[in-house]
Amino acid sequence: MNVPMLDLKLQYASIAEEAEAAVLDVCRSQWCVLGPKVQELEETMAAYCGTNHALGVSSGTDALLMCLMALELNAQDEVILPTYSFFATAGAVVRAGATPVFVDIDPVTFNMRPDAFADAITDNTKAVIPVHLYGQMADMDSIMAIAEEHDITVIEDAAQSLGAVDHKGRKAGSVGHYGCYSFYPTKNLGAFGDAGLVVTNDESRQTHLVQMRNHGMEPRYYHDFVGGNFRIDAIQAAVLNVKAPHLDNWHAARRNNADIYNRAFIEAGLATKTGEIEFSDAERVLLPIDMHYSSQDTNTHIYNQYVIRVQHRDHLRTVLQAAGIGHDVYYPVPFHKQKCFQNIPTAKDRFPVSDDASETSIALPIFPELKEEQLLYVVETIKKEVLG
Ligand SMILES: *Cc1c(COP(=O)(O)O)cnc(C)c1O
Repeated sequence: MNVPMLDLKLQYASIAEEAEAAVLDVCRSQWCVLGPKVQELEETMAAYCGTNHALGVSSGTDALLMCLMALELNAQDEVILPTYSFFATAGAVVRAGATPVFVDIDPVTFNMRPDAFADAITDNTKAVIPVHLYGQMADMDSIMAIAEEHDITVIEDAAQSLGAVDHKGRKAGSVGHYGCYSFYPTKNLGAFGDAGLVVTNDESRQTHLVQMRNHGMEPRYYHDFVGGNFRIDAIQAAVLNVKAPHLDNWHAARRNNADIYNRAFIEAGLATKTGEIEFSDAERVLLPIDMHYSSQDTNTHIYNQYVIRVQHRDHLRTVLQAAGIGHDVYYPVPFHKQKCFQNIPTAKDRFPVSDDASETSIALPIFPELKEEQLLYVVETIKKEVLG
C-alpha cells in the first residue's frame, strides 16, 4: 500500500470545475492584482475569523513581516517567540530589524509556554508571537493577560491554524492585535501559489497595513513610510473563494482521521491515552491531544499536521520510507540551533522541550481524502517496528 504525506490532486478533483471557471474569470477580466476577487476573499475571511478586518497579502511570511514593520522596531527592541516553529516566524523578526527572544514550548501542545513568555519579558519587549502550531491554539487567555499587563503587542502566527477554535469559541488569529495566516498550498486552505492574510479588529492598524501593502503609498506616488509590495494576486483569491466554503468539512475529515489514528495506536498497545509526555513500556508512542486550557470545552484542533513522538525516530523514518508511507519532521532544527541565529543572545539558552521535540516528533499523513485502511496500515507498520 502507498500512503502519500499529501496528495493535493485528490482535493483538486473535487473542486476542479469551479476552480477552473474562477481562474478563467480572472484571465478574462485581466484584473490580475487585488480587485473584486480579493475583496470577496477579505470579506469572507473577516466573517470566518470573527474580526473587523482582513487583508489579503502575498504570503504568510509577508503577513508576519508587515505586522512587525508596523511596530517600527529597532535592534534594541525584543520580540518573544517560541524557538520551535517554521523558520518564517523568526526570520520576519530579524528582517523587521528587531531582536528575537527565543522561549521554550509546552511538551503536549508544542506551543509557547505562557510562563516562559512571562519570564523572558524585559523593558525592551515590544511584541510576542504565539504560534498556533500544527492546527491547535496556544493558551491565548494566559498570553493575553501577560501581554496586557506589560503593554506588549500580540501577533498571532496562525499560518497552520486558520479555523482552529479555543474553548471560548474564538478563532485562531482573532484574539491578539494581529493574526497572520498562510495560504501556501500545503496549509488547510491552500491557494495555487503563495498567498497570505492578516486580520485585526483595530481600524487604524488596518488602515496602516493597507498602505503598507502598497509601498506605504497614499495618495499615488506619495509615501509617508516605507512599505513593500505585499499584494495578493487575484487568481489566488479566486481559488481561495472557491475552496473556503469546504474548509470546515476538510477540518472535520482531518479530525476524524486523527481519531482513527489515536484509537488504532491505543488498540495496537503502543499508547494508553492521548496527551502523554513520558515514554514508558505502556507509552511507546506519544499521541497528540485536543488540549484543555480550562475546565470548559476543549480546543478544536484542525490537524494541519498530526504529530506523534517516538524514540529512535530517525530509524522509524527509514522503515516508513521502505513501506511506502509518507512522513516529515516539523522541525528538526529549533531556531536556537540555526546557524544564522548564533549571534542572537538567547540562542545560548537551554530549551530542553524543543530540543527533545526536534529529536522525537514525526508527522504522519492526515489529509482529508485518506482512507481508513491507509491510516491503519501506517499504525500496523509502526507497531511491527516498535513492538517487533
Ligand atoms: C507556513 C508558515 C509560515 C509562512 O507562510 P508562507 O505563506 O509559506 O510564507 C509562517 N509560520 C508558520 C508557523 C507556518 O507554518
